[in-house]
Amino acid sequence: MLTKPQAIQNLDDIIKKVEFARLQVSPHKIVQIVGVSKYNTTDDVKSLYNAGQRAFGENKVQDLKQKQEILEDLPISWHFIGTLQKNKINNLIDLNPVLCHSLDSLDLAQELDKKLKAKNKTMNCLLQINSAYEDTKSGVSPKNAVEVYKTINEKYKNILLKGVMSIGANSKNQEVIKESFITTKNIFDKCDGATICSMGMSGDFELAIFCGSNMIRVGSGLFKQ
Ligand SMILES: *Cc1c(COP(=O)(O)O)cnc(C)c1O
Repeated sequence: MLTKPQAIQNLDDIIKKVEFARLQVSPHKIVQIVGVSKYNTTDDVKSLYNAGQRAFGENKVQDLKQKQEILEDLPISWHFIGTLQKNKINNLIDLNPVLCHSLDSLDLAQELDKKLKAKNKTMNCLLQINSAYEDTKSGVSPKNAVEVYKTINEKYKNILLKGVMSIGANSKNQEVIKESFITTKNIFDKCDGATICSMGMSGDFELAIFCGSNMIRVGSGLFKQ
């Protein structure tokens, strides 16, 4: 279990690193931290909540539902960060996530929009981009990402696109990871109205911030025991 002192220590360590990184980019730059709780218990989430963390993310609709229910008394902002299966769309809509990071195709956008309309609801989303060109990763190809972004904005009015998301390249080579982040940042800059650039995880969030990320998704680093 994640004890309160350990939670405070972890959060403090991450915030210090985020501060150091963002100040090198610009004093005006704000970086939001989403705690990824997918491998952890609700008690661990509570420990981090008590340390001051308010935004958490899950990658499975069922897990998000379960954690939300158990922690319903806490004013947590819940993010959805995992691959969304079409048969789970309605369930996700009912959970009212503050942001879905993982809209990863036009096809999914069409289906999500249709189901949102039927429920007379909207959802804040990020377009996931496969900037590392890895078969194991979801996301639209960088080549047509700007166009897909524009199409979703124009056609699917119940999806409120807020920006883009990427998972850094799965590589030990910092230059390769950096390149994948820069690819996403360049797309972000070309998307009208985009305000959120979600990239960076425990192992690479400082590099992501240097490359322009303003939202990081941190799991193991925040929850380490
Ligand atoms: C698991 C996960 C994270 C967090 O990963 P860590 O390396 O534990 O920080 C971030 N983003 C996504 C999409 C994830 O699935």
